[in-house]
Amino acid sequence: MIKITLPDGSIKEFEKGTTPMEVAKSISEGLARNVISAKFNATTVETTTPLNTDGDLVLYTWKDNEGKKAFWHSTSHVMAQAIQDLYPGAKLTIGPAIERGFYYDIDFGDQKISESDFKKIEDRMLEIARGKHDFQMREVSKQEALDFYKKESNPFKVELIENLEDGDITFCDHDTFTDLCRGGHIPNTGIIKAVKLMNVAGAYWRGDENNPQLTRVYGISFPKQKELKEYLEFLEEAKKRDHRKLGKELELFTFSQKVGQGLPLWLPKGAALRERLENFLKKAQKRAGYEMVVSPHIGSKELYVTSGHYAKYGEDSFQPISTPNEGEEFMLKPMNCPHHCEMYNASSWSYRDLPKRFAEFGTVYRYEQSGELHGLTRVRGFTQDDAHIFCMPEQLDEEFKKVIDLTLYVFSSLGFEDFTAQVSLRDPENKEKYIGSDDVWEKAESAIINAANEKGLNYVVETGEAAFYGPKLDFMVKDALGRSWQLGTIQVDYNLPERFDLTYKGSDNESHRPVMIHRAPFGSMERFIAILLEHTGGNFPLWLMPEQAIILSLSEKYEKYSQKVLSLLENHEIRALVDNRNETIGKKIREAEMNKYPYMLIVGEQEANDGTISVRKHSEGDLGTMKIEDFANLINTEINSTLKPFKTEV
Ligand SMILES: [Zn+2]
Ligand SMILES: [Zn+2]
Repeated sequence: MIKITLPDGSIKEFEKGTTPMEVAKSISEGLARNVISAKFNATTVETTTPLNTDGDLVLYTWKDNEGKKAFWHSTSHVMAQAIQDLYPGAKLTIGPAIERGFYYDIDFGDQKISESDFKKIEDRMLEIARGKHDFQMREVSKQEALDFYKKESNPFKVELIENLEDGDITFCDHDTFTDLCRGGHIPNTGIIKAVKLMNVAGAYWRGDENNPQLTRVYGISFPKQKELKEYLEFLEEAKKRDHRKLGKELELFTFSQKVGQGLPLWLPKGAALRERLENFLKKAQKRAGYEMVVSPHIGSKELYVTSGHYAKYGEDSFQPISTPNEGEEFMLKPMNCPHHCEMYNASSWSYRDLPKRFAEFGTVYRYEQSGELHGLTRVRGFTQDDAHIFCMPEQLDEEFKKVIDLTLYVFSSLGFEDFTAQVSLRDPENKEKYIGSDDVWEKAESAIINAANEKGLNYVVETGEAAFYGPKLDFMVKDALGRSWQLGTIQVDYNLPERFDLTYKGSDNESHRPVMIHRAPFGSMERFIAILLEHTGGNFPLWLMPEQAIILSLSEKYEKYSQKVLSLLENHEIRALVDNRNETIGKKIREAEMNKYPYMLIVGEQEANDGTISVRKHSEGDLGTMKIEDFANLINTEINSTLKPFKTEV
């Protein structure tokens, strides 16, 4: 008999050779119907793999990421079979699951494949799927494996096999198809009910441009037709909300090849948006006891040698700038922390002065390869909403809670309601990887966990994920389409205070080392605005909108009254503009809807006579005629419902 430990900690005895599927059956028929993949002692196994030793077993369904991975990887085998049927001589290389779906890199030789071929491949895949063929793993000797692919004249698989150890090679069979594979499949092809090929792209064998070019065919599959339909709708919606597209339409930012790749240029409306976000955070930070500081965009190379950034990132960074004087070298600032450490060092501090909280909207520059650049989410120059808190170790707990409060305030004011947190701790088995004594780590880790508990955060703990210099807390938000984005981070740091020899005088009159906290609730202005655009589709919270209302005159006759309405709105600090063009009101409304103005105020003869406006709300429609004061109240009520003042606990 063998002892199987399940994730809930329960231990069950089974006969040696029992499979994960049989374990599932022993729990419930329902579970057995849904189990598609398994891990045994942290190794991926088939649901049909005989278990011969005691161990931990985890069973996965489609709902789990591991289940999806097995589902999509298995579908890549089915696609490979369909392609070999339709394109005899096509040579297979590798076909893994990816975050959403799978791909297979294939050498099509002289044959061409394009999107117009997708339908026939999908049809053949579904035909294979309906055959309910079992995926079956079998061990083969190195010689057998080599013979198999030499017969197929497939140099790619031969190369892969040559790098494997004899005795460690497996094939996976289903239907009439065989593939070299390590394993991790669903029970049979019949579970695959919907498939869709997404696109084709060029890819070099093993990612090396000196190697032959292959065709990468991307696809995705689902256990239900309905799920495929929903996924395609999701993609459509995501495309509409792509921040690069919206940023252009709303005239927020642009890029110029002449200025340089990855360097965003903020246009007037985008700059105003940033300014509003910055002012919002500055106001809350002031309330929370932060002081604003300003540091230059470059720093001497020595600064980053001291901080350790040069040794760690120097090679992969923008290279130092030399001055006409020999021996002087500067670097573009990759982070603000070293500058802030030197600001701390400019004075001597006593325990009564701490914590010191230095905040800066600091622009930093990091080299990213051109292929990695993406809109505002991966850029070469960006502005962090950075701050560094220098405090006594015994203040960590309190400071952490305050930073969490501020971060949650930012999320709620901007409409991110669904978020989770991750606490990253050090790996207790590998303590030598980290700097700082056991004592300080234990204190810092428990400070983070206490703060997270006390603030009622929904968090997971990841052991071994801490930075070498300290534990951290990261926030992940879910956007309106259910996608997760990493936003703010809070990190404890014992390293920089050491490297910059930061001190304070304690109540014992002795010199002590402060602890440093790095934190950025937005992360960076660029990335945050990108996420906010995709989350809201450009319909920002009203307090943040570049223009909150547009005045649409029925004809040029009402220009004077339109201007009067504008002045009255401005008296109420409402941002608005006038559309006085000689166009039909229908056209003006359509355009205003498209440009996402939250309110459209229509003025004509009646409104001019009565001193009123006819109000339409974006995507909702007519709200009726009202006085300017009533409209101002409406706007203020809406703003106050999302943007509340930041309050600190007393
Ligand atoms: Zn496989
Ligand atoms: Zn920092």
